[in-house]
Amino acid sequence: MLKQLLSVFLESRCPFCQRTTPETLCSYCLQKLFSHQLNEYDRPSLEHDLSIFAWGKYEGQLKRAIALMKYNNQPELGSLLGQLLGEAWLDSGLVKSAQKVSVIPIPLHSQKLKDRGFNQAEIIAKSFCQSTGYSLNSKALIRVRNTKAMFDLSPEERTKNLQGAFRIGNKLPKYPVLLLDDIYTAGTTIKELTKVLQRNKIKVIGAAVVAKTRIDD
Ligand SMILES: [Zn+2]
Repeated sequence: MLKQLLSVFLESRCPFCQRTTPETLCSYCLQKLFSHQLNEYDRPSLEHDLSIFAWGKYEGQLKRAIALMKYNNQPELGSLLGQLLGEAWLDSGLVKSAQKVSVIPIPLHSQKLKDRGFNQAEIIAKSFCQSTGYSLNSKALIRVRNTKAMFDLSPEERTKNLQGAFRIGNKLPKYPVLLLDDIYTAGTTIKELTKVLQRNKIKVIGAAVVAKTRIDD
């Protein structure tokens, strides 16, 4: 009886299917999430001279998980995604296990942070660092300008939209940098941030993202 009573408190509902589960997602939905994972031949890709490591394809349950996390106030999904990304990163063996890395989540503008209550990239990065043992640095970059949503912009417009949007923060990374974000589309933000870091003589090894919208280019 006590056990039953306790489980009511300990178990929460799966945000996808509403079944009760002691985990963030029930085992059925977690399995569905894994169906969107990229296999090792699909990643990483080299874009803009940077290595992009993506966990999965931006589709189906993975797309839904990211949307629920960001717009339905479910940061715990970000922790789960960060953990999956971290485990896949370690499995890939891209970086020697002894190498030290500073992980920088893509910063949100302070106004957006206030509206949403959390930076999804930072939540993913935090749990990614717990899995990998890397050092988290959320203060190395600052978004000084609130930029327009990018989804309907052309590549040229995206680049223009981001010019001067970021500056270096007051805590410089100690080690080579891995940028971290939830979704990778055209890579404009990552490219711009890499420029800002390199201008300050900081080495960037690449970016890790939860989901990639395009695979073939
Ligand atoms: Zn479920």
